[in-house]
Amino acid sequence: CGIVGYVGPQPALDVVVDGLGRLEYRGYDSAGVAVFADGGLTTQKRAGKLGNLRSVLPTQRTADGTAGIGHTRWATHGAPTDRNAHPHVDNDNRVAVVHNGIIENFARLRLELEELGCKFRSETDTEVAAHLLSIQLQHNGGDLAAALRCVCQRLEGTFTLVASSVDDPGLVVAARRNSPLVVGRGEGENFLASDVAAFIAHTRSAVELGQDQVVELRSDSIRVTDYEGNPAPVREYHVDWDA
Ligand code: GLU
Repeated sequence: CGIVGYVGPQPALDVVVDGLGRLEYRGYDSAGVAVFADGGLTTQKRAGKLGNLRSVLPTQRTADGTAGIGHTRWATHGAPTDRNAHPHVDNDNRVAVVHNGIIENFARLRLELEELGCKFRSETDTEVAAHLLSIQLQHNGGDLAAALRCVCQRLEGTFTLVASSVDDPGLVVAARRNSPLVVGRGEGENFLASDVAAFIAHTRSAVELGQDQVVELRSDSIRVTDYEGNPAPVREYHVDWDA
């Protein structure tokens, strides 16, 4: 339902949870975040209102922000429980993924992945994307954007997918097909969201992602490609509606 991503110097947890709060008006049944802390990827997720998530978040913030992703879920596959809330991770907790939409061919992919030893912790369609990304990363030497391009080509349905990996804490990648995704360009920081409302408190400079495109977001760069890896033009516009 709602998606937020951030890369930059502010504490990522605060920026992401605040962004999710600005998307609350769309409705949701659970919420979650994944941020880098102490050299690993920390995921917190809870069914119910954002307040339930906030109550389990650490009060101590790591000052050195880097990156984070967050999601408010409107369940389509699997009940609205803590486990089914996003982000979803792979076996080793190396990759975290949030997703809007529906992965139509998830049942077949799940069987295939279970045979390869992937341990599923949820009943969602989304979790296949975390395991697929993890396997693809092992094949391509840890290039998360390249892995996401390959994974998108295996998925049927509608999706906005956002992912981060412990291999590259300064990077957030995202892809879309028939589901919205907007990038916000800041000064030394960048945002992404399913809706500009999530980041207009920080920047009014937005980049709309085209159909079947992948974006690589770092604090100082925004790179857009198609699913084959061909560079695509970055079209920036000004968001002038009132917050
Ligand atoms: N299909 C996914 C799920 O049920 C994502 C739902 C959404 O768009 O929030 O978890």
